[in-house]
Amino acid sequence: MLSSTRELLETARRNVYAIGGFNVYNLEGVQAVLRAVEKHHSPAILQIHPSALIYGGLPLISLCLEAARSSPMPIAVHLDHSTNPTDILTALKAGVRSIMADGSPLSYGENLKFTKKMADIAHGQGAAVEAEIGRISGTEDGLTVTEKEAKMTDPQQAVEFVAATGVDFLAVTIGNVHGEYKSPPRLDFVRLAKIRDLITIPLVLHGASGLPPEMVSKSIELGVSKFNVNTEVRMAFMDSLTQGFCVNSPQDLLEPLGEAIAAMTEVISEKLYLFGSVDKAHLHQSPYAEMLALS
Ligand SMILES: [Zn+2]
Repeated sequence: MLSSTRELLETARRNVYAIGGFNVYNLEGVQAVLRAVEKHHSPAILQIHPSALIYGGLPLISLCLEAARSSPMPIAVHLDHSTNPTDILTALKAGVRSIMADGSPLSYGENLKFTKKMADIAHGQGAAVEAEIGRISGTEDGLTVTEKEAKMTDPQQAVEFVAATGVDFLAVTIGNVHGEYKSPPRLDFVRLAKIRDLITIPLVLHGASGLPPEMVSKSIELGVSKFNVNTEVRMAFMDSLTQGFCVNSPQDLLEPLGEAIAAMTEVISEKLYLFGSVDKAHLHQSPYAEMLALS
């Protein structure tokens, strides 16, 4: 069923687990998420990155919405990392009710202004909004520790930002990085605990690919209700296709694509276990969930 991100995250937080936000690019990615959640009775979020939106356009949004509607599991559809108002408006118009307004490349003041404006528009359509302060780096190499520290989420600033913008979820930067971790991840849990103490809305951690299980558990304990996963699933798809096309020389298309779906399903299933959302679908099938899904 097509669910509300707000409900998924609030219920997950109350019951101390987290929801996986899985970036999808095509039918195969969507199928993999559906198979994993249906096998493990888990909620999940299908996420579209703006670059995937450029690639797939409105048909990709329709695919995600229809997949969510037709699945017996609670699934939300979310627009990831949008720095461009046009993408947000396009997604809202197409029926997406969860967006990330990402002003993190801007200065703090500009980020606040951008996020507030996008949040007002999205809320006017009944959509939930994720935002980010601090800035998650995807290219850690070349950054000095001082620069890296400067990009981490400041707990006091986070309080002010959430109050001023009215966003529904906050993506925090506590040492997490996009893409692969070049050295063992080090998360600043003291910072996360401070943010948690000061803010009541659900927190989001990007860059969950490659985080060891104990860090995932600790993050959930400290209030992270959504993990974004992209790299590991994408790598599973690409590795499987390389094997399928280059090594096996198949005669038809469905066989290697089917194997790629299976490879992604396996990675997604592991993440659902890690996030603790396996066998939690029933918690989201409540009158409250239905009410929020319809709003
Ligand atoms: Zn991200």
